[in-house]
Amino acid sequence: MGTTAKKEFKAESKRLLEMMINSIYSQKEIFLRELISNASDAIDKIYYKALTDDTLNFDKESYYIKVEADKEDRTLKISDTGIGMTKEELEINLGTIAKSGSFAFKNENEIKDGHDIIGQFGVGFYSAFMVADVVTVVSKALGSDVAYKWESDGADGYTIETVHKDSVGTEITIKIKENTEEDTFDEYLEEYRLKAIIKKYSDFIRYPIKMDVTKREPKEGTDNEYTEYQEEQIINSMVPIWRKNKNELTTEDYENFYKEKHYGFDKPLKHIHISVDGAIRYNAILYIPENIPFDYYSKEFEKGLELYSNGVLIMDKCADLLPDYFSFVKGMVDSEDLSLNISREMLQHDRQLKLIAKNIKNKIKSQLQTLLKDEREKYETFFKSFGRQLKYGVYSDFGSNKETLQELLLFYSSKEKQLVTLDEYVSRMPEEQKYIYYAAGESYERIERLPQTELVLDKGYEILYFTEDIDEFAIKMLMNFKEKEFRSVSSGDLGLEAEEGKDETTTEEQDNKELFEKMKTILQDKVKDVRVSKRLKSHPVCLATEGDVTIEMEKVLKAMPDNQNIKADKILEINSNHNVFQSLKAAYDHDAEKFNLYTNLLYNQARLIEGLPVEDPVEFTNHVCKIMV
Ligand code: ADP
Ligand code: MG
Repeated sequence: MGTTAKKEFKAESKRLLEMMINSIYSQKEIFLRELISNASDAIDKIYYKALTDDTLNFDKESYYIKVEADKEDRTLKISDTGIGMTKEELEINLGTIAKSGSFAFKNENEIKDGHDIIGQFGVGFYSAFMVADVVTVVSKALGSDVAYKWESDGADGYTIETVHKDSVGTEITIKIKENTEEDTFDEYLEEYRLKAIIKKYSDFIRYPIKMDVTKREPKEGTDNEYTEYQEEQIINSMVPIWRKNKNELTTEDYENFYKEKHYGFDKPLKHIHISVDGAIRYNAILYIPENIPFDYYSKEFEKGLELYSNGVLIMDKCADLLPDYFSFVKGMVDSEDLSLNISREMLQHDRQLKLIAKNIKNKIKSQLQTLLKDEREKYETFFKSFGRQLKYGVYSDFGSNKETLQELLLFYSSKEKQLVTLDEYVSRMPEEQKYIYYAAGESYERIERLPQTELVLDKGYEILYFTEDIDEFAIKMLMNFKEKEFRSVSSGDLGLEAEEGKDETTTEEQDNKELFEKMKTILQDKVKDVRVSKRLKSHPVCLATEGDVTIEMEKVLKAMPDNQNIKADKILEINSNHNVFQSLKAAYDHDAEKFNLYTNLLYNQARLIEGLPVEDPVEFTNHVCKIMV
């Protein structure tokens, strides 16, 4: 039977392998978790096939995983009765990095820092090379007459040849490395150690993981002589973690499950274990991750939960179980009430599934509320990662989910200098304060210096600082919270006039009516109006807006791919108490050219303060120079 020539690994796989071979990662033991998890996946596949294909017939005994150590040979063998791999599958699955997303390179730096990668991602099959000199995979696929042997020492590529194997399934033999000064590898041949690793990571695997365990029995008729013999034992409890009682499980158990399933890179922030036994019956284990998956805010990201029907995995990512605004949630759902043969299309209309989804949504919400109430710091960590998604949720679907989400929002407060909830804001509002004020800008520092905030802050009112694109859009959708309307500090009407000497400003405006008209003519359609400001105290100018679109929104819309050139209706506000206003008046009376110059300068200054670009930088600098000479 022909041996094929050595084949090279694909470039990326090669880098990953090198990392594995030279790994200094301390938790090398996880290789066993990975191999057992693959074995279990492979049995899942054949199990599912047998259940849904009448021509196949297996009994329960035919599904198992076996772990065997041979100290003499320094080999560890993990075999399964799973679906097996064809020659092509061996090449594709083991010759290239798994496509399943369990591993993805972000950038070169991370590749260099191999330590982190192994800890953060499940690295699957290749993790065997952390402890092995040579890995040999013998596999026979379901429906195939021949078996194949894939072998590799990692570095020099791999070979594939035809071999004989009686039964369908896969046998992975790893030649354990010799001990080095830093590392002992012998332990991976020790019975007690292997048992402990299996217990730790793979206890809930639903198929038996068998091992031949050494037993001792006193020799008959002797006191301290023993006979040793081997007995096959099942090491794992086989009860899936989601069927276990919550009280029996530790946080570590949940964390191990999270890792084993590759749900996320590091420790989950919170787990939610749900067992419902009523009109609908299901178990679920859900996780709120701490960090944003690297592809989270990209098109590639796919939301969804694993879906099991009575313990059998029927779908990897069931999107219908999660609303978009909770798309960061990871985990699985198992229900007895779902049919095994259900298709994706049918699932969408499944009544049971809809009920489960609704139930899950409510559970997630209440967990987040509890987190917010009881573990504020953790909640803020969560919000820094996924708050944006919640805000998208408020905004999308025409605001139909705002009721669900509004209490979960946090914004930075001018008063508290930290994130606050809308409820906290409203509960602190002085009685006479009409609106919930907000200011939008690039950063807290920049917002803090916006002239428009002066008056509101002076009144002692709290302002929410919006620094994310989505903030204002979400708030526009929300419209109000507890009957209090939101109001931008840049809006034409701050609801403060009554107390602010309205008459005085009107006379100012009356007196200088022509001046303002002239400024408007100079600025043409750049502004909708020029007025005396009611909100400025120390600054000479600012831009306010009228209507629905604010300046921050204009910026966001401009950055969008289908930019439709939507502009805010801008009002140039002049501080009539500022010295500059006197100069402006003087110029108006005596020097038309200067007046023109000043008008343009003030307008551009106001733009700069808003973080808008100067419209014509060359002209602007020319103007500044003109004044200097
Ligand atoms: P992942 O499990 O995330 O897909 P792995 O690197 O662990 O990534 O495995 C790569 C692929 O190799 C698997 O997706 C599977 O198709 C195949 N594979 C690995 N081990 C086995 C096995 N014991 N039986 C059948 N197929 C396997
Ligand atoms: Mg795997």
